[in-house]
Amino acid sequence: MDLPAVTILSLGGTIAMTQGETGGVVPTLTAEALVGAVPQLQQVARVKAQSYRQLPSAHLRFEDIEALAASLRHLAGAGERGFVITQGTDTIDETAFALDCLYDLDVPLVVTGAMRHPTLPGADGPANLLAAVQVAASPAARGLGCLVVMNDEVHAARYVRKLNTSRPDAFASPACGRLGWLTEGRLRLASRLPDVPRVVSSPQPRPAQVALLPACLDDPGDMVRALLAAHAFDGLVIQAAGGGHVTAGLADALETAARSMPVVLASRTGSGDVLSSTYGYTGSEIDLLRRGLIRAGLLDGHKARVLLTLLLRHQGADPGAIAQAFQAWSNDHP
Ligand code: ASP
Repeated sequence: MDLPAVTILSLGGTIAMTQGETGGVVPTLTAEALVGAVPQLQQVARVKAQSYRQLPSAHLRFEDIEALAASLRHLAGAGERGFVITQGTDTIDETAFALDCLYDLDVPLVVTGAMRHPTLPGADGPANLLAAVQVAASPAARGLGCLVVMNDEVHAARYVRKLNTSRPDAFASPACGRLGWLTEGRLRLASRLPDVPRVVSSPQPRPAQVALLPACLDDPGDMVRALLAAHAFDGLVIQAAGGGHVTAGLADALETAARSMPVVLASRTGSGDVLSSTYGYTGSEIDLLRRGLIRAGLLDGHKARVLLTLLLRHQGADPGAIAQAFQAWSNDHP
C-alpha cells in the first residue's frame, strides 16, 4: 500500500521530557526518539522526523512559529501529505492558533503533545502521537487548517483551550465543541469550520508587543493608564467581564488607548461571543464599541492577542483590516 508521507516536527514539551539534573523533567528527546517509541506509526504513514526546537512551550516565541510555518510551506512544496507538530501543551492553544493564522495550505496540519511525561505510568505521548499521525494522514483532514489532537479528540486550533493543569483530558473547545474524534484509529469528523483568509506573511515581520489585561471588579483603569505611560505596547486586548463589560473608569482608559493603538474587546469567560447590541450602560459592549474597541467575537483573549500580534507584525496597523480579520476569524457574519 502507498502510505502518505507525513513529517513530524518536534518543538520540545512534556512529550519529549526526561529526568533532568535539577530535579524535574526537561525536554531532551529528539523527534527520531519520539517516532522510534511508536512502531505502529509505520503502518499509518511514511514518517519522517525533524527536531525543530527543544523547548518548554512557555519559551516558544512568535519567531519560532513563523519560521515553522515557512518550513511547512517549503516541505509541502516538496510533496509532504501531512504534518504533525509535537510541543508542550501549556501554550498549544496559542501556538496552534498562530500556526493556523499563518497556514494557507490544504495539507493536514496537526499539533499534539502529552500531559504525562514519558517516565510516568499511563504516559499519553505515544497514543497522542499515533492519533495525530492518523489524522494528518487522512484525506478528510485536508483544508481544515491547524488541528489539535489530544486524548483521541480533534479540536480546531482557533477554539481549543487547555482547561486543566495535569489531566490527559485537559483540552476542550468550550466555544463550539470539538470538530471530531478518533475511533479505532479512524478520523470521525462531526463538523467543519468555514475557511478564513490567512494573515498575509511578510518576509520581514515588524516587532509588535500586544498586552493582554483582565478587567476586574472595581477596576479603576489604572493598569491601562500605566501601560500607555510605558509606551511599550502596540496594541491591547482587554478581557472584559461577561459579554464585554467594564467599569466606567476602565472604559475611559480604554477609549484613550483606542485613540493610539488597536484595542480588542474579548471576554474573560472563555466561551461565547462578545456581545454587540444588548447592554447600553457606561462600560457596556455598546459603549465600548462606540468608543473604538474591536470585537474579538468568539476568540478568547489569548487567541485575540495572537491574531492582533500577527496582524501588526505582518500586515500593519490599518484599523479596517484589523476589524475585518477579527470578524472573519471569529466566524462573525454581519
Ligand atoms: N506541561 C507542559 C507540557 O505539557 C510543559 C510545556 O508546555 O512545555 O508539555
